[in-house]
Amino acid sequence: MAPSNGPPTARSDALSEVLLMLKTIQDDNAHLTESVDALRDRVEVLGFHNDLNQQIPKQPAIVAASQAEPTSLLVTPTVASLSKDVADEATKSPTQDPQRKPSTTGTSRIILTTYPSQSGIDPITMNWGHSDPHQRGPVVVSRRQNTLRRRNAIGAHGGSYSIYHALAVASKDLDAEHRPDFTNTEPAAKIGPFPQWADKKKIVSMDPLGHLAPWLFEDLMQNEDIDIRPTIAITKAHMKLPELERSVQAGRLVPDGKICLNDEGELAVTKIAVEPVWYLPGVAERFGIDEGSLRRSLFENTGGSYPELITRGDIKLFLPPIGGLTVYCFGDPAKMSDPNVKLALRVHDECNGSDVFGSDICTCRPYLIFGVEEAVKEAQNGGSGVVIYFRKEGRALGEVTKYLVYNARKRGSDRASEYFKRTENIAGVKDMRFQALMPDILHWLGISKIDRMLSMSNMKHDAIVEQGIPIHERVPIPDELIPEDSRVEIDAKIHAGYFTTGKVPDMDDLSNVHGRAWDDVDLESRYTSILTVFKACSIVSMELDVEDDLGLMARFGKMETRQILAEFDYRKCMTLGS
Ligand SMILES: [Zn+2]
Repeated sequence: MAPSNGPPTARSDALSEVLLMLKTIQDDNAHLTESVDALRDRVEVLGFHNDLNQQIPKQPAIVAASQAEPTSLLVTPTVASLSKDVADEATKSPTQDPQRKPSTTGTSRIILTTYPSQSGIDPITMNWGHSDPHQRGPVVVSRRQNTLRRRNAIGAHGGSYSIYHALAVASKDLDAEHRPDFTNTEPAAKIGPFPQWADKKKIVSMDPLGHLAPWLFEDLMQNEDIDIRPTIAITKAHMKLPELERSVQAGRLVPDGKICLNDEGELAVTKIAVEPVWYLPGVAERFGIDEGSLRRSLFENTGGSYPELITRGDIKLFLPPIGGLTVYCFGDPAKMSDPNVKLALRVHDECNGSDVFGSDICTCRPYLIFGVEEAVKEAQNGGSGVVIYFRKEGRALGEVTKYLVYNARKRGSDRASEYFKRTENIAGVKDMRFQALMPDILHWLGISKIDRMLSMSNMKHDAIVEQGIPIHERVPIPDELIPEDSRVEIDAKIHAGYFTTGKVPDMDDLSNVHGRAWDDVDLESRYTSILTVFKACSIVSMELDVEDDLGLMARFGKMETRQILAEFDYRKCMTLGS
């Protein structure tokens, strides 16, 4: 409809009036919605603080589950709840409603959140830090039919893999009610128990009973059909790293048939995988914040994924969707906690680009390999050697941020003096690894002192020492293991406080430490393009004008030039030509 340019008629006057009224109603509506939202926010915040003030619900503790009648665990709050029907829904079994279509989540209605006072909500008692496992209780987080009401943790098993689990259920590749068969999955080595396990200030980010859960709480699983899963698994394996074969050749590592198995540098190792389980009051305390702020931030910054962080102040555990860690223990695992033998330890944070794919922009893989080698030597000397690998890619900023920083560095002057600033400009912080929770695993392993700490990080050092674990010696990465292009990183870190036995560079020194720019990659492209011309035109002698090479690249394409580079030696080709 084209707008009319003429004077308004009576009809269009009426139309304008109607439009005006509509606009007023719309505005009023928007106002109303805003007011309701504001009101609801306040109610939620109030409710949240009330929840936080509540103590752990006064329920009978879980005595040895076999002695307790299942009903003795049930406490039914009488307060009618806003979403009683939701709770009722949760307690109904599908057989009660033959009309209902089977759903992948066990109930046809979506349960957005739960409240502590809600009918049917009856969490299994969790006394975090209690020394008696049955008094402490299992970590229960599953939303399976018979477990939903009994949960005492928010989140899901599997850390970041919980999302793949969701996909598997959604695509019907996995039955949501599947029960794991734990036959023969028991730990392959005995760890603990240690007094640290019963100190709720010492372990706040993993479940000290996580490797034993299905066996400790077998009765509860069988009698009440509660879904309880391990969050720690312990196995034994061999491992082979090409650098360690060279260590054997160089005589640094001597095969003993027990820890270093042969001339190829093959190692025997005990491996422990750990998924995060956060005790929220303890995590908050480590960071010097209040539990409410922590819960609110976790809720807001996960896109509102876990409303129970807000509505269930009575639930103190959260299984966050993040990566866990792996312990690599060389030698007898019992020696890790033996104060009479030496312990060498490397705490390593994931760097996929270097650790797996050999990038030379940082010292990660060389330091990791050095850590493994030193750990093996310590174990061979009658002590213990441990490497702990944390999934905290790119200082826990992730690879996307990391690569953006690389680009910014390589397109700038890539000086050590600018190193942290480049990260900070993009991510807002220079590091998000927050080592405050890292020492939990050391407490869990029963480690009470570290003789040789294979790390230069002041953050890791301080976090460990603050947790009451002394470090007797700090061992920096040997200079000869530092790749040329990673000087920028290591010098910037030393300047910022990383440990060194050498000189601490000042800002002047740092501005003289450059990384490799991208020119060399471009240079390589130039050579390959020349070779392409040689091959394509069968010319063995010609005057080369390097300025033309970019044009030649465009002519012959990158893939082919790469291939040719692999097949020919540019210099040989030049000699042939002259
Ligand atoms: Zn790295």
